[in-house]
Amino acid sequence: MQDQSVLIVGGGIGGLTAAIALLEKGHRVEVVERDAEWTTYGVGIIQQFNVIRAMGSIGMLDAYLAKAFGFDRTTIFVGPGGEQAADFETPRLAGEAYPSNAGIRRRDLQDVLVKGAQDRGARMRLGTTVEAFDDDGAGVDVTFSDGSTARYDMVVGADGVFSKTRGMILPEAPQPRYTGQWVWRYNLPKPDDLTGIQVFVGPCNAGLVPLGQGLMYMFDRGLPRGDHRRCRRCGPPARGRLCRRRLAQGPGGVAWRRRSRVHAALGAGRRHGDRGRAGACRRVD
Ligand SMILES: Cc1cc2nc3c(=O)[nH]c(=O)nc-3n(C[C@H](O)[C@H](O)[C@H](O)COP(=O)(O)OP(=O)(O)OC[C@H]3O[C@@H](n4cnc5c(N)ncnc54)[C@H](O)[C@@H]3O)c2cc1C
Repeated sequence: MQDQSVLIVGGGIGGLTAAIALLEKGHRVEVVERDAEWTTYGVGIIQQFNVIRAMGSIGMLDAYLAKAFGFDRTTIFVGPGGEQAADFETPRLAGEAYPSNAGIRRRDLQDVLVKGAQDRGARMRLGTTVEAFDDDGAGVDVTFSDGSTARYDMVVGADGVFSKTRGMILPEAPQPRYTGQWVWRYNLPKPDDLTGIQVFVGPCNAGLVPLGQGLMYMFDRGLPRGDHRRCRRCGPPARGRLCRRRLAQGPGGVAWRRRSRVHAALGAGRRHGDRGRAGACRRVD
């Protein structure tokens, strides 16, 4: 099955990766992306060894790693004292010449994927979405929100967790629901001695992930709603203080050495609630 015309709905990580993979196989690909600005936020994303292998399989690994920070090592610390519980290397699935995992800014990942798709000949329609499909078994007639129509051999829905495409094809499918779990994320300058991912597990979970461009990414994960009742120490008022203390006890206190920025981010989060947290993220990003 070669030289099929494919429409991909959604130009996120899934849609762009599918576009590159299909173009590599000799198909013609068009991506329709609802967001005219095609923006993404700048925090980091951790990409484990299956992603590294997948990037290799679509010929994107070198371009991708040029913007990322590759690493093999994961270190896990537990409890309020931040005691080291595990330190291990994960396998290099793309071959010995490449790292096991990588951290990358989402904007850099998107730039790499957009360029990869465009260089291979993808057509992009921005600020547009699909209004209707008519699948007659041999192909799909598509009506776009700008009134234009086109026919494709195949349509791929890659429009995210609240996919409108899925709703159009499977209207009875269960809808995603918010569980109450949340995470604060910040980009900060990366200390030289942070060479792998560090995860801090305890009443609240946090972690440090090296990224490309001299940055690291810090996450601070909260419990689903209701679980705070079971663990009072995790309540939002105590969160910033606890995390600062535990992160300070990591090896060399890597986050603590960035304490003015981390403090500003977590402190603002405590004072102003979620909107303040988002503001704090932007400030340190
Ligand atoms: C807080 C958080 C942290 C995460 N951290 C990690 C991590 O560290 N590592 C990891 O591997 N994964 C992580 N993930 C998961 C990862 O972000 C998702 O798996 C990934 O973004 C899914 O990609 P996607 O392309 O399917 O969807 P999306 O990234 O949501 O992209 C969907 C695209 O479709 C577009 N779109 C939406 N609706 C339409 C429409 N009707 N028409 C046209 N276009 C449309 C959107 O504008 C968007 O560009 C995290 C997720 C969250 C929420």
